[in-house]
Amino acid sequence: MSWESSAEYYRLINQATRQMLGGQHSAKILLYSVNFYKIEQLQHAGYWEEAGQEMARCAQQLAAGGADFILLCTNTMHKVAPAITEATALPFVHIADATAAKIQQMGFRKVGLLGTKFTMEQDFYKGRLKAGYGLDIVIPSEAERVIVHDVIYQELCQGRVGADSKQSYLAIIDNLIAQGAEAIILGCTEIMLLIKPEDMRVPIFDTTRIHAEEAVELALGEVLLGK
Ligand code: GLU
Repeated sequence: MSWESSAEYYRLINQATRQMLGGQHSAKILLYSVNFYKIEQLQHAGYWEEAGQEMARCAQQLAAGGADFILLCTNTMHKVAPAITEATALPFVHIADATAAKIQQMGFRKVGLLGTKFTMEQDFYKGRLKAGYGLDIVIPSEAERVIVHDVIYQELCQGRVGADSKQSYLAIIDNLIAQGAEAIILGCTEIMLLIKPEDMRVPIFDTTRIHAEEAVELALGEVLLGK
Protein backbone atom coordinates (compact mmCIF):
# COMPACT_ATOMS: atom_id res chain seq x y z
CA MET A 1 0.00 0.00 0.00
CA SER A 2 2.71 2.57 0.79
CA TRP A 3 4.60 3.24 -2.42
CA GLU A 4 7.85 2.52 -0.55
CA SER A 5 7.00 -1.19 -0.65
CA SER A 6 5.11 -1.04 -3.96
CA ALA A 7 8.37 0.13 -5.56
CA GLU A 8 10.10 -2.93 -4.07
CA TYR A 9 7.42 -5.22 -5.48
CA TYR A 10 7.86 -3.63 -8.91
CA ARG A 11 11.63 -4.12 -8.75
CA LEU A 12 11.45 -7.69 -7.42
CA ILE A 13 8.84 -8.80 -9.96
CA ASN A 14 10.87 -7.39 -12.83
CA GLN A 15 14.13 -8.86 -11.49
CA ALA A 16 12.60 -12.31 -11.15
CA THR A 17 11.13 -12.03 -14.65
CA ARG A 18 14.53 -11.16 -16.08
CA GLN A 19 16.08 -14.02 -14.14
CA MET A 20 13.57 -16.48 -15.54
CA LEU A 21 13.34 -15.22 -19.13
CA GLY A 22 16.61 -13.32 -19.54
CA GLY A 23 17.66 -10.35 -21.69
CA GLN A 24 15.19 -7.55 -22.19
CA HIS A 25 12.23 -9.41 -20.70
CA SER A 26 10.20 -7.55 -18.10
CA ALA A 27 6.87 -8.10 -16.40
CA LYS A 28 3.54 -6.96 -17.85
CA ILE A 29 1.91 -5.28 -14.85
CA LEU A 30 -1.26 -3.31 -14.29
CA LEU A 31 -0.51 -1.31 -11.14
CA TYR A 32 -3.28 0.34 -9.18
CA SER A 33 -1.34 2.59 -6.85
CA VAL A 34 -3.54 4.07 -4.12
CA ASN A 35 -3.28 7.23 -2.04
CA PHE A 36 -2.01 5.59 1.12
CA TYR A 37 -3.11 8.56 3.25
CA LYS A 38 -6.71 7.57 2.72
CA ILE A 39 -6.10 3.86 3.36
CA GLU A 40 -4.13 4.49 6.54
CA GLN A 41 -6.90 6.76 7.87
CA LEU A 42 -9.51 4.05 7.25
CA GLN A 43 -7.32 1.41 8.95
CA HIS A 44 -6.68 3.41 12.10
CA ALA A 45 -10.31 4.51 12.37
CA GLY A 46 -11.36 0.86 12.11
CA TYR A 47 -13.38 1.51 8.92
CA TRP A 48 -12.55 -1.87 7.41
CA GLU A 49 -15.84 -2.13 5.54
CA GLU A 50 -15.02 1.05 3.61
CA ALA A 51 -11.42 -0.08 3.12
CA GLY A 52 -12.71 -3.33 1.65
CA GLN A 53 -15.05 -1.46 -0.69
CA GLU A 54 -12.12 0.64 -1.88
CA MET A 55 -10.03 -2.50 -2.53
CA ALA A 56 -12.95 -4.10 -4.37
CA ARG A 57 -13.23 -1.05 -6.64
CA CYS A 58 -9.50 -1.16 -7.39
CA ALA A 59 -9.64 -4.89 -8.15
CA GLN A 60 -12.60 -4.42 -10.49
CA GLN A 61 -10.69 -1.77 -12.42
CA LEU A 62 -7.70 -4.09 -12.74
CA ALA A 63 -10.01 -6.85 -13.95
CA ALA A 64 -11.53 -4.48 -16.51
CA GLY A 65 -8.02 -3.60 -17.62
CA GLY A 66 -7.28 -7.22 -18.42
CA ALA A 67 -5.42 -8.51 -15.35
CA ASP A 68 -5.11 -12.31 -15.15
CA PHE A 69 -4.84 -12.38 -11.37
CA ILE A 70 -4.68 -10.02 -8.39
CA LEU A 71 -1.82 -9.36 -5.99
CA LEU A 72 -2.58 -7.14 -2.97
CA CYS A 73 0.82 -5.71 -2.08
CA THR A 74 0.51 -5.54 1.70
CA ASN A 75 -0.09 -7.94 4.57
CA THR A 76 -2.45 -5.76 6.59
CA MET A 77 -5.01 -5.17 3.89
CA HIS A 78 -5.45 -8.93 3.52
CA LYS A 79 -7.87 -8.39 6.38
CA VAL A 80 -10.30 -7.34 3.63
CA ALA A 81 -9.20 -9.95 1.07
CA PRO A 82 -12.74 -11.42 0.94
CA ALA A 83 -14.03 -8.08 -0.40
CA ILE A 84 -11.67 -8.49 -3.35
CA THR A 85 -12.36 -12.15 -4.03
CA GLU A 86 -16.10 -11.46 -3.90
CA ALA A 87 -15.80 -8.48 -6.27
CA THR A 88 -13.97 -10.22 -9.11
CA ALA A 89 -13.67 -13.75 -10.44
CA LEU A 90 -9.90 -13.39 -10.83
CA PRO A 91 -7.50 -15.64 -8.90
CA PHE A 92 -6.09 -13.92 -5.81
CA VAL A 93 -2.56 -14.66 -4.60
CA HIS A 94 -2.84 -14.57 -0.79
CA ILE A 95 0.36 -13.33 0.86
CA ALA A 96 -0.06 -15.53 3.97
CA ASP A 97 -0.54 -18.68 1.88
CA ALA A 98 2.56 -17.98 -0.21
CA THR A 99 4.58 -17.35 2.96
CA ALA A 100 3.26 -20.36 4.86
CA ALA A 101 4.05 -22.64 1.93
CA LYS A 102 7.70 -21.50 2.02
CA ILE A 103 7.88 -21.97 5.80
CA GLN A 104 6.51 -25.49 5.46
CA GLN A 105 8.99 -26.28 2.68
CA MET A 106 11.81 -25.31 5.04
CA GLY A 107 10.34 -27.47 7.80
CA PHE A 108 9.79 -24.78 10.47
CA ARG A 109 6.92 -25.07 12.94
CA LYS A 110 7.34 -22.20 15.38
CA VAL A 111 7.88 -18.76 13.85
CA GLY A 112 7.93 -15.16 15.06
CA LEU A 113 5.68 -12.62 13.36
CA LEU A 114 6.43 -8.91 12.93
CA GLY A 115 3.94 -6.62 11.24
CA THR A 116 1.41 -3.92 11.98
CA LYS A 117 -0.63 -4.31 15.17
CA PHE A 118 -3.52 -5.37 12.95
CA THR A 119 -1.48 -8.21 11.50
CA MET A 120 0.19 -9.28 14.74
CA GLU A 121 -2.96 -9.18 16.88
CA GLN A 122 -5.91 -10.10 14.70
CA ASP A 123 -6.92 -13.46 13.42
CA PHE A 124 -7.15 -12.87 9.67
CA TYR A 125 -3.41 -13.54 9.34
CA LYS A 126 -2.21 -15.49 12.38
CA GLY A 127 -5.33 -17.61 12.30
CA ARG A 128 -4.75 -18.52 8.67
CA LEU A 129 -1.16 -19.56 9.41
CA LYS A 130 -2.26 -21.64 12.39
CA ALA A 131 -5.41 -23.24 11.03
CA GLY A 132 -4.30 -23.67 7.45
CA TYR A 133 -0.69 -24.72 8.00
CA GLY A 134 -0.34 -25.82 11.63
CA LEU A 135 2.21 -23.10 12.40
CA ASP A 136 2.83 -21.93 15.93
CA ILE A 137 3.06 -18.12 15.83
CA VAL A 138 4.95 -16.05 18.40
CA ILE A 139 4.32 -12.29 18.56
CA PRO A 140 6.11 -9.51 20.48
CA SER A 141 4.83 -8.18 23.83
CA GLU A 142 2.21 -5.42 23.83
CA ALA A 143 4.81 -2.66 24.34
CA GLU A 144 7.01 -4.13 21.61
CA ARG A 145 4.06 -4.35 19.21
CA VAL A 146 3.52 -0.61 19.61
CA ILE A 147 7.16 0.02 18.66
CA VAL A 148 7.00 -2.30 15.64
CA HIS A 149 3.74 -0.70 14.47
CA ASP A 150 4.87 2.89 14.95
CA VAL A 151 8.13 2.34 13.08
CA ILE A 152 6.13 0.98 10.13
CA TYR A 153 3.72 3.91 9.87
CA GLN A 154 5.84 6.80 11.16
CA GLU A 155 9.08 5.83 9.46
CA LEU A 156 9.17 3.04 6.86
CA CYS A 157 5.94 3.99 5.03
CA GLN A 158 7.34 7.53 4.84
CA GLY A 159 10.71 6.51 3.46
CA ARG A 160 12.71 6.82 6.69
CA VAL A 161 14.99 3.90 7.58
CA GLY A 162 16.78 4.55 10.89
CA ALA A 163 19.64 2.79 12.71
CA ASP A 164 17.91 3.18 16.10
CA SER A 165 14.75 1.51 14.82
CA LYS A 166 16.80 -1.29 13.36
CA GLN A 167 18.37 -1.91 16.78
CA SER A 168 14.91 -1.89 18.40
CA TYR A 169 13.65 -4.43 15.88
CA LEU A 170 16.69 -6.67 16.37
CA ALA A 171 16.17 -6.64 20.16
CA ILE A 172 12.49 -7.55 19.65
CA ILE A 173 13.50 -10.33 17.27
CA ASP A 174 15.94 -11.66 19.91
CA ASN A 175 13.05 -11.87 22.36
CA LEU A 176 11.00 -13.87 19.83
CA ILE A 177 13.91 -16.25 19.34
CA ALA A 178 14.22 -16.59 23.14
CA GLN A 179 10.56 -17.69 23.12
CA GLY A 180 11.40 -20.47 20.69
CA ALA A 181 10.91 -18.86 17.28
CA GLU A 182 12.95 -20.82 14.74
CA ALA A 183 12.52 -18.19 12.04
CA ILE A 184 10.94 -14.73 11.66
CA ILE A 185 8.20 -13.62 9.27
CA LEU A 186 8.66 -10.04 8.09
CA GLY A 187 4.88 -9.78 7.94
CA CYS A 188 4.74 -6.22 6.72
CA THR A 189 5.93 -5.37 3.25
CA GLU A 190 8.07 -2.40 4.34
CA ILE A 191 10.10 -4.22 7.01
CA MET A 192 12.51 -5.58 4.40
CA LEU A 193 13.69 -2.00 3.97
CA LEU A 194 14.97 -2.12 7.58
CA ILE A 195 15.91 -5.73 8.30
CA LYS A 196 18.10 -7.73 5.93
CA PRO A 197 18.92 -11.46 6.00
CA GLU A 198 22.53 -10.68 6.97
CA ASP A 199 21.32 -8.89 10.15
CA MET A 200 19.80 -12.10 11.40
CA ARG A 201 20.91 -15.25 13.23
CA VAL A 202 17.77 -17.18 12.22
CA PRO A 203 16.15 -17.38 8.76
CA ILE A 204 13.70 -14.66 7.75
CA PHE A 205 10.65 -14.99 5.57
CA ASP A 206 10.37 -11.70 3.70
CA THR A 207 6.74 -11.50 2.63
CA THR A 208 7.45 -8.86 -0.02
CA ARG A 209 9.94 -11.05 -1.85
CA ILE A 210 7.97 -14.28 -1.37
CA HIS A 211 4.75 -12.70 -2.65
CA ALA A 212 6.43 -11.02 -5.62
CA GLU A 213 8.19 -14.24 -6.65
CA GLU A 214 5.01 -16.26 -6.25
CA ALA A 215 3.33 -13.87 -8.70
CA VAL A 216 6.10 -14.29 -11.24
CA GLU A 217 5.92 -18.07 -11.00
CA LEU A 218 2.18 -17.96 -11.49
CA ALA A 219 2.43 -15.55 -14.42
CA LEU A 220 5.25 -17.37 -16.17
CA GLY A 221 4.39 -20.96 -15.34
CA GLU A 222 2.61 -21.50 -18.62
CA VAL A 223 5.21 -19.59 -20.62
CA LEU A 224 8.00 -21.71 -19.18
CA LEU A 225 6.07 -24.90 -19.85
CA GLY A 226 5.86 -23.77 -23.49
CA LYS A 227 2.09 -23.28 -23.54
N1 GLU B 1 2.48 -2.60 4.02
C1 GLU B 1 2.26 -2.94 5.37
C2 GLU B 1 1.84 -4.39 5.49
O1 GLU B 1 2.34 -5.21 4.76
C3 GLU B 1 1.53 -1.99 6.25
C4 GLU B 1 1.00 -0.77 5.64
C5 GLU B 1 -0.24 -1.12 4.86
O2 GLU B 1 -1.30 -1.13 5.39
O3 GLU B 1 -0.11 -1.42 3.70
O4 GLU B 1 1.09 -4.77 6.34
